[in-house]
Amino acid sequence: MKSEKIRMLSTVCMVLLGIFAEAAAFAGVPNIAALIYKYDDTYVSTVRNALSKAFDGKANLTMKDGEGQQAIQNDQLDVVIEKKMDGIIVNMVDAQAAGGVVEKIKAAGIPVVFFNREPDLNVLKGYDKAVFVGTNVVEAGKLQGDIIKSLWDANPNFDLNKDGQFQYVMFKGEPDNPEAIARTEFSVKQAEANGVKMAQIGETFVCNWDTAQAETAMESALASNEGKIELVIANNDAMALGAIAALSGIGYNVEGGSKFIPVIGVDATNPAVDAIGKGIMSGTVKLDGEAMGEAIAAIMLNMTAGKAPLDGTQYTYDDSGIAVRIPYSPYVK
Ligand code: CA
Repeated sequence: MKSEKIRMLSTVCMVLLGIFAEAAAFAGVPNIAALIYKYDDTYVSTVRNALSKAFDGKANLTMKDGEGQQAIQNDQLDVVIEKKMDGIIVNMVDAQAAGGVVEKIKAAGIPVVFFNREPDLNVLKGYDKAVFVGTNVVEAGKLQGDIIKSLWDANPNFDLNKDGQFQYVMFKGEPDNPEAIARTEFSVKQAEANGVKMAQIGETFVCNWDTAQAETAMESALASNEGKIELVIANNDAMALGAIAALSGIGYNVEGGSKFIPVIGVDATNPAVDAIGKGIMSGTVKLDGEAMGEAIAAIMLNMTAGKAPLDGTQYTYDDSGIAVRIPYSPYVK
């Protein structure tokens, strides 16, 4: 009997200890869930690290990998709503599915910050505890246009045929992606607005943000236009590096080599920054993932504390009244 009592007592103690341990872990700080579209994405990884850092000691952060599948993310959403999180951060897998996501979160009354992959903002406007943190979709292209202007001015030898125009080839991410469309259009428009006469060679190469596809496309461009291409513009660094691989295959853009064609991208990935450092790539545009993570955390902590989302921060809304835009910056040697 005695041992039975001891066993019961110890069970009770264990349960109580468990409750206290849980209370200690969650004491005083909000529980935040972050649903990430996929972990295997260089830029989003930067944001994830920044979130962990920014919430450290200020919130209990739980992150979930959506693995690039909206169905997985939907299940994760159901789980975190059921766990009654104090705040939810959503990096949509499929931005078009945001309507259903925000409806569920609204029904639970939980504050939400969407980031990076931009939903139709009208879908979010029906919920007063929803904020979007993103970038300005035309800005990356415009900054590429500014880089083109400085390259053109600083390097008269880039005008191989001396016709006063910059003959370029264009690598586009995806046909209908808003960022790909804006970067393709505004890089050239901004260069022209800066006074550079731009002349495209061949069709725009759609290479799905992919290095290998861009390398193949650049090989074919070089086969018919070697010596005529004066500039390579790519929607992202992965494709820029594919173009450089094709160029180096025929002796251009080799470290310490004599033949060089300027290549520019977007993202400032580590390999691109390395290539710029070696002088085999000319420039890129940096998405500041750290700044984005800091903004998301600051806004979320305000909301979980019952304050206005931008209270006491340096951030402002754009014309939508619901979105905060984190600026890009040019990156050159
Ligand atoms: Ca020229």
